[in-house]
Amino acid sequence: LFQLSVPLNFLGSVYRDIRQALVDMQTLFDLHKVSSSIKVKPGGFPLVLLPGDQKSHVIFDNVVFDYMPGQNILNGLTFTVAAGKKIAIVGGSGSGKSTIVRLLYRFYDPKDGRIIVAGHDIQDLTIDSLRKAIGVVPQDTVLFHNDVFYNINYGRIEATPDEVYEAAKMAEIHDAVMRMPKGYQTQVGERGLKLSGGEKQRIAIARAILKNPPILMYDEATSSLDSITEMNILNSLRRVTKDRTSIFIAHRLSTVVDADEILVLEDGRVREKGSHYSLITDSNSLYAHLWHKQHEAHKRELHRTHVDDGT
Ligand code: ADP
Ligand code: MG
Repeated sequence: LFQLSVPLNFLGSVYRDIRQALVDMQTLFDLHKVSSSIKVKPGGFPLVLLPGDQKSHVIFDNVVFDYMPGQNILNGLTFTVAAGKKIAIVGGSGSGKSTIVRLLYRFYDPKDGRIIVAGHDIQDLTIDSLRKAIGVVPQDTVLFHNDVFYNINYGRIEATPDEVYEAAKMAEIHDAVMRMPKGYQTQVGERGLKLSGGEKQRIAIARAILKNPPILMYDEATSSLDSITEMNILNSLRRVTKDRTSIFIAHRLSTVVDADEILVLEDGRVREKGSHYSLITDSNSLYAHLWHKQHEAHKRELHRTHVDDGT
C-alpha cells in the first residue's frame, strides 16, 4: 500500500495539472468567447512570480493591434505599471479596454510593439507560467452549471475547502452563500439558482483571491451592476489588490479615484494620464469633462437606487 501511494500521488498531480489547464482554457473562453490566435514559440521561459514580487511590473511598449486589417484598435499604446501599483484605464465603449486584458493574458498577440512582464517580452514566456501569474476578474463572469463551491474552487483546483471558504469571505460572498438553499452545494449557472450580477462578480473575485496572482486585472462589469453594488465590490477588491500589480478597466470614473495613475484611452493611445486630482484640476482634460458628465448621471442614479444587491 505504501508503495502504491507514490504513483497514485503522481497520477493525482498529473490529473490536477490537466484540470488546471482545462480551467485556464475555460477562463479564456469566458473572457472572449472566441478562439485563440497566437503563435506559441517553442522553448519559452517559465516565469515564476509571487504576490508582492518586486519584478511584477507590466509594460505596454508601443503596442499596435487590430482584429481586422486596416482597423487598428490599439495604435501605439504605451504605459507602465510598476510592481505593486494600481493603474486604471478609462475610455469610451469600444475604445479597446478589454482588448488590453486579452493581450496581456496572451489571447492575441500585438501586430507591433511589445508587452513586457517582469522584464520579459510575454511572447518569450511559456503561456502557462504567464497565465498563472495573472488573475482576471472579467467583465461578465460565466458560472458553470455546478455548485457554488466548484465555481469558486475553480480559481485554484488544488485549494483546500478551508481556503475556498476563506476566499469567499474575503470576497464578501460567504454570508450570501450560507443563505442559499443548499449553501455551497447550491447549483448555479444555467438551470441552477440565478445569481445577481453582483454575486457573480464576487464569485469571480473569490476565484481570483484563491488563485492569488501577483498581477490582477479587473474588467468592470458593463451595465449589470448599480453603482452602490459596484462600490461594495470595489471595496472587497481593494483588499485583494493591495501590494499587487493591478490594472483596473473602468466605465465609471468614480470607481478609479484611488488609482496610482489613471490612463484615458482614445484612438488606441493614451491621451491623458495622471492621478485623479491632477486630471480633474485640468479643466481642459477629457477626464474632467467625462467626470462632470458622469457625476450628474451618478447623482440621478443614487436618487433612484437605495438598495444594495443584497450580498
Ligand atoms: P472596450 O472594452 O473598450 O469597450 P473592446 O476592447 O472590447 O472595447 O473592443 C474594442 C473594439 O474592437 C470594438 O470596436 C469592438 O467592436 C472590436 N472588437 C472586439 N472584439 C473583437 C473581435 N473578436 N473581432 C473583431 N472586432 C472586435
Ligand atoms: Mg470592455
